[in-house]
Amino acid sequence: MARERLRAVFLKKFREPPELTDLEPDRSLGPGEVLIEVEMSGLCYRDLLTVEGYFPRTRLPIILGHEMAGKVIAVGEGVTEFEPGDRVASLTYIPCGKCRYCESGNEHICRRRLTFGEDINGSFAQIVKVHERSLVKVPNNVTPEGAAMAACVTGMLLRAFKHVARVRQGESVLVTGAGGGVGIHAVQVAKALGCRVLAATSSREKVERISEAGADEVVLSDDALVENVKRLTGGDGVDVVLEAVGQPTFNKSLRCLAWGGRMVVVGNVTVSSVEVPLGLIILRANSIAGTIAATKKDLEEALRLTAEGRVKPIGTVYPLEKVHEAMERMRRKESVGRIFLRP
Ligand SMILES: [Zn+2]
Repeated sequence: MARERLRAVFLKKFREPPELTDLEPDRSLGPGEVLIEVEMSGLCYRDLLTVEGYFPRTRLPIILGHEMAGKVIAVGEGVTEFEPGDRVASLTYIPCGKCRYCESGNEHICRRRLTFGEDINGSFAQIVKVHERSLVKVPNNVTPEGAAMAACVTGMLLRAFKHVARVRQGESVLVTGAGGGVGIHAVQVAKALGCRVLAATSSREKVERISEAGADEVVLSDDALVENVKRLTGGDGVDVVLEAVGQPTFNKSLRCLAWGGRMVVVGNVTVSSVEVPLGLIILRANSIAGTIAATKKDLEEALRLTAEGRVKPIGTVYPLEKVHEAMERMRRKESVGRIFLRP
């Protein structure tokens, strides 16, 4: 009998295009492990950075991809919460489950976590091996796209807004990079949390789609950004900035903050440093924080919001075979919303 072979996207060398290859899948399962048939993966800017070698500790060769949803096909010893047939979404990593971060509900910064697509094989494949510690069941009415982005996009954004920026209902929020995969969903999450949302984009062509996604105001992130944001907030500036771009917009969005305003940085697309005007953040009592990924609780809440229709996935689905085209579109910032890969 011919051995079963399955498709997967392998990164073999940094700065070289990942290879679409057939492989014999490893179906052996240790305690707590779960085998998943991937329904949908999300393509993240981090995947591009991984290919470019910005995460040099990545264990090569590796199957890329850390945003995933699928169906359980087998479970290892001791797994009680999941059984074959369950639809599940996964965290972007496997937490150790034992350290002080994991024990305090901050598993997203567990120092021993294993990140899919970097430390362990990821989801740009037909099947992927995960651990029950990373999994959450997906409500019936959530689409594969909504489930695939629930951890790295929706859940991460809930963490950024609720736990880091501590937004309150009625506050104003500025989202930069609002046409991108993170930005357009940040608009929706901030609206779901009862905020007034100003969205900034560098692309005039994306303005209408961002408005349709629920932004109260869409502004161009050009030289007039600060002036426009001030004008739209009665001269005050915004209470919170969700900085999804990084260096190109950082100083402008810092100047958009109101007195006492908070900025949460979740994107660094140019992988570069910024200069922080210290006088400004002292005098205005501003805070700047970074955050990454989601906890299991964030992931559950993200799926609830998606099931309620308050967050709707916006993006384009590519077949896994077109991974290079998908990456190129992301690199050129041509598409609105998330890019998804279906195996
Ligand atoms: Zn991601």
